[in-house]
Amino acid sequence: MDKAADKGRSIFWMRRDLRAHDNVALHAALSSSDQVICVFVYDRTILDELPRCDRRVAFIHASVEEAGTQLAKLGGKLLALEGDPAKLIPDLARRHDAARVFANEDYEPTARRRDEAIAEALARDGRELLLSKDQVLLHRDEVLSKSGTPYARFTPYYRAWLRRLGEDPAVLGDYDPAPLKSHLDGTVKGPSNIPLHKLGFDNVDLEGLSLWPGTSGARRVLNEFVGKIGDYMALRDTLALPGTSGLDIHLRFGTMSIRAIFRELGKRTDVHDASVAGWIREVCWREFFSQLLHHAPRVADGPYLEKYAKLDWVAGKLGEQRLAAWQSAATGYPIVDAAMTQLNTTGAMHNRARLIAASFLVKTLGVDWRRGEAYFALKLNDYDQASNNGNWQWVASTGADAQPPYRIFNPSSQSRTYDPDAAYIKHWLPALAKIDARHLHEPWTRDEPIPDYPAPIVDYAAALEACKRRYGAV
Ligand SMILES: Cc1cc2nc3c(=O)[nH]c(=O)nc-3n(C[C@H](O)[C@H](O)[C@H](O)COP(=O)(O)OP(=O)(O)OC[C@H]3O[C@@H](n4cnc5c(N)ncnc54)[C@H](O)[C@@H]3O)c2cc1C
Repeated sequence: MDKAADKGRSIFWMRRDLRAHDNVALHAALSSSDQVICVFVYDRTILDELPRCDRRVAFIHASVEEAGTQLAKLGGKLLALEGDPAKLIPDLARRHDAARVFANEDYEPTARRRDEAIAEALARDGRELLLSKDQVLLHRDEVLSKSGTPYARFTPYYRAWLRRLGEDPAVLGDYDPAPLKSHLDGTVKGPSNIPLHKLGFDNVDLEGLSLWPGTSGARRVLNEFVGKIGDYMALRDTLALPGTSGLDIHLRFGTMSIRAIFRELGKRTDVHDASVAGWIREVCWREFFSQLLHHAPRVADGPYLEKYAKLDWVAGKLGEQRLAAWQSAATGYPIVDAAMTQLNTTGAMHNRARLIAASFLVKTLGVDWRRGEAYFALKLNDYDQASNNGNWQWVASTGADAQPPYRIFNPSSQSRTYDPDAAYIKHWLPALAKIDARHLHEPWTRDEPIPDYPAPIVDYAAALEACKRRYGAV
């Protein structure tokens, strides 16, 4: 064992926390070790499942580059590896005789299984995996009901979550690595990033998609949002306007900590203003679904309300045809097709559009929500298992705190309310630009069919009855 290891060498493993600043696990490693090797692993077990052109991989790649630069400026280095972390992390720890590996918690069931296996492999060598809370403000058992059980309903969870945040300002603490930077190892051998094409992926024009990677990108998006947050409640549901923050992908990949975002809001806004408070409430949904997935990992495979496992979905050839029409934006319902076109071409989708498109698949077409969940998982830039699953189960009425089964989003009235001039529809379906907005909410009211546009795949009134029968039967 060499001198550095005697004094305590450790590894900081960066995952969905692509930044050096305000990173709890990095700070924990630096505080308790003399030398910290920082590593990011391009995980082949995940990457091998993805198409060659994946916007998220390009975003991660550019964010890793920036995180590497941040560490280099502090005198450290980010080592980039490619392969299976279950093998690479214990090997790296062994090679550098690091007693501890620090990382931030990931609450997804597959990630938890991976971490358990790595912790066991490290333990066999007398080493440790130490995990920190970083991704959310409050996690797992930090917000429980008075009887000590996890909340299954959002509103009481939200109240308790707000109370806890108010009582404990340390939750928003800043984990600045600068005072501890002398503990960073800047000499470790190996590449600090791996070219995208060597990983087997194509370049993506992120700027063209208004995706700004890294902490610099997060800062830019946050700054812009803080300037207009006062309009959030008024504009957040207007499909054609950028009324929401656009921080989703940054929260997903941790290019800025959720604590830093809240501290910034605290400094620059009135957190009691209805719009700021409304935005904070939306962020709480993210934490609600995260703790739900932690406490009930079974939701990853099936309904939270188990009776809905018996729902008789439209399956077989008809189900596949309906799914294919939905995926390829060819349902004949312009608002749904515009939403799916936005998803297919950019990986983004407005929250209201997600609600409309998801409800249409599940309640109007009668297709199992898990098929839609899987498609969103493949396409969404901000894909997060807890939030995606939680929202699909909300729409499908199978979730912990879901909408009632007979609340069915009518695509025509949703379209009229949230896209009155059909500006969103016309933007994503330019072939319909010359059609009167009235007819885009309900194309079947037009005397002539819309040229080069499919007829509605189902009759809405009949679909509604079928949906009621389906839910009524369980
Ligand atoms: C069917 C469906 C699937 C979804 N899948 C995902 C997903 O995979 N990943 C994801 O991050 N969000 C998902 N959402 C939630 C929501 O649509 C996005 O978080 C939001 O559109 C992101 O844009 P924004 O950052 O501008 O949102 P803002 O309105 O600015 O909200 C700020 C942040 O709060 C969180 N948030 C807001 N609404 C929700 C919500 N309903 N549930 C959970 N968190 C929320 C997000 O982290 C978001 O970035 C889904 C919603 C639906 C209806």
